[in-house]
Amino acid sequence: MLLVEDDPPGGFRPEATRAVTRVLLVEDNPHDVGTVERLLTTADTPFDLTSVGRVSDALARLATGNVDVVLLDLGLPDSDPSQTFDRVSAAAHGTPIIILSGQNDKGMAALAVRSGAQDFLGKRHLDGPLLDRSLRYAVERQRYHDALRDSEERYALAVEGANDGLWDWNLRTNEVYYSPRWMSMLGLVEAQVPGRPEAWLSRVHADDAEELRRDIDGHLAGGTDHFSKEHRIRCQDGSYRWMLSRGVVRRDQRGVTRMAGSLTDIHAQKVVEERLRRDALTDALTGLPNWTLFKDRLRAAIAKAKRQPAHRFAVLFLDLDRFKTINDSLGHSNGDKLLVAVSKRVADVLRPGDTIARLGGDEFAVLVEDCAEPSDAHRVADRIHAEFKAPLHLDGHEVFVSTSIGIALSSPRYAYPEECLRDADTAMYRAKGADRGGHAIFDREMHQQAVEQLQLENDLRRAVARREFRVHYQPIVRLNSGSVQGFEALVRWEHPERGLLMPDDFIPMAEDSGLIVPIGWLVFEEACRQLVAWQKAWGETPFVSVNFSSRQIRQSDLIPHVQEVLRRTGCKATDLRVELTETMIMESAESGVDKLASLSNLDLQLYIDDFGTGYSSLSYLQRLPTNALKIDRSFVNEVAEKPQIVGTIIALAKSLKMRVEAEGIETEDQLARLRELGCESGQGFYFSKALTPTAATSLVETQPIH
Ligand code: C2E
Ligand code: MG
Ligand code: MG
Repeated sequence: MLLVEDDPPGGFRPEATRAVTRVLLVEDNPHDVGTVERLLTTADTPFDLTSVGRVSDALARLATGNVDVVLLDLGLPDSDPSQTFDRVSAAAHGTPIIILSGQNDKGMAALAVRSGAQDFLGKRHLDGPLLDRSLRYAVERQRYHDALRDSEERYALAVEGANDGLWDWNLRTNEVYYSPRWMSMLGLVEAQVPGRPEAWLSRVHADDAEELRRDIDGHLAGGTDHFSKEHRIRCQDGSYRWMLSRGVVRRDQRGVTRMAGSLTDIHAQKVVEERLRRDALTDALTGLPNWTLFKDRLRAAIAKAKRQPAHRFAVLFLDLDRFKTINDSLGHSNGDKLLVAVSKRVADVLRPGDTIARLGGDEFAVLVEDCAEPSDAHRVADRIHAEFKAPLHLDGHEVFVSTSIGIALSSPRYAYPEECLRDADTAMYRAKGADRGGHAIFDREMHQQAVEQLQLENDLRRAVARREFRVHYQPIVRLNSGSVQGFEALVRWEHPERGLLMPDDFIPMAEDSGLIVPIGWLVFEEACRQLVAWQKAWGETPFVSVNFSSRQIRQSDLIPHVQEVLRRTGCKATDLRVELTETMIMESAESGVDKLASLSNLDLQLYIDDFGTGYSSLSYLQRLPTNALKIDRSFVNEVAEKPQIVGTIIALAKSLKMRVEAEGIETEDQLARLRELGCESGQGFYFSKALTPTAATSLVETQPIH
């Protein structure tokens, strides 16, 4: 609310005066009446003159309200001259009165003017223009005063009724008027508020004071139309509240005269705004900055490094190892507690200027400022790793977590925060691949590899369209006789420049990009065709085992798609096996169980691949409609030295009424141990590697299937 407006109060405009001015002449001397009449008829302004000779008549006339101005002679037959003005004035209710004075009553006329008469005119010197001007001015002045009074009344009401406090600063005397509301808003009473600017300014929060002063000075200097500033102010109880001070300056020819304005309490609104702002920039779970805020800080660090090359920073990308397993096994609320505990541990080893943010899930980023040497970044990473050595206690569980850290050091190459984080992320993958719980610094070679990966992903997309995939078949044999029972279909990519690529070179990328789905279906269909071809040639029934990705399983049209391929190729479901890794099955949870049941209902055999590497629970396994377990290669590898694990898996399979199969058999020793432990079938380089379809065909033809 602004107190001072540019228009005159009440919007008064001189042109708004009435066209004809109604003059009441109170005069008992006919000669004088005649003079006035004559002068008014020739005046520029249109006047409507009524004359009366007695005060009582004047009072009656004024009571009608039809008078704009009174010309009053003080010496009248029914009044004592010293009282004439007071009597008429009392009845005039603000109608302006001009005294017509003769020689004798000049002193009284002057007195009347002091008591409120607008003017006095000597009868002797009366002339047209003088009378005209005097009447007009009296009327205008009165109108102006009326308007001013209205406006002041309105203003007084507004002050009383407004929720805002008001202040009016006389810049010449440096005195300030503070309204009672202004004071009560701060919990103050008048005695505590000296009428000086300090009463306000000295209470402003130290962090806001300088800017407030600057804004006031800027406005006083004419730099702004209005002064408006949000600031905190100390209340009587010592607390600070957010207020909005607004005002505007008035000036005359000599410069600024006063500045006046209001004080509005915006505390509640500010608190909400502050919370929203904080929420938008922080992670709700840990209270750490989020990616948006981190990005801002990183952007500032990049800009600073560009301006001052001596300023170097490092970005650390942290990803917890095995977080998903911990989350799944201990429950999500413990997973959340773990993330909070981890964020505290990391924050503890950082310096005050550094920033730690949660990017989402189990990923954190750290911005280390002033990181002169790569060894500084290594040291921070070492300190973080050291923090993870001690176990965390969650709901009575002792949990060990480790984190893999990728580091990107500041470089003139970086223009955007995203680039920097991307490189730290790439380095993190390297760290994870090399040795969990370690760290790696992004370098040129990684950059090169990242570029190659991108190239490979593009190639892979094209490969799907060009059907560059080949299916090889690894024989699965009966362990006691060595005869071939069937084959596992394994995909290879015939890359136009790089030659035959193995699944490890492209399956992870195919999984990430989703291309595993079309690739998986290509392999499935090709395997079905091959199986039908073999069956036609031999009349025998080998089986073919096909690997499915969890992404395929999650597809909503999984079942119709399988049925469609079986129909197209004429393959029988009973001759097919589907292999799913243990980890994939565990990840797909409840909805996955239904999907597996539907597959099983089609009469497909379901195998749990790489068994022993995941974290299946016994109760979960019991509910799965799976037919067999494939013991992971790592256990088969050690079966000669440590037969217990394989023994346990075989016993488990038996109790679950599942078949068991070994993969990765490489030596005779391993074969012998597996036979002893009661494993019936398996595959491995000891028997044969995966073969081309032609090689697989001739193998079977020389050694018929049993
Ligand atoms: P997997 O399903 O466990 O397949 C067995 C892997 O072990 C094959 O590797 C096979 O060549 C290898 N192997 C077999 N015997 C031995 C041995 O005695 N010693 C050693 N060191 N390795 C042996 P490959 O062909 O490289 O396939 C790797 C993985 O790629 C497969 O593991 C499977 O998970 C995945 N994969 C292959 N083809 C497909 C496919 O069509 N779809 C999907 N989703 N995944 C596939
Ligand atoms: Mg397999
Ligand atoms: Mg396997």
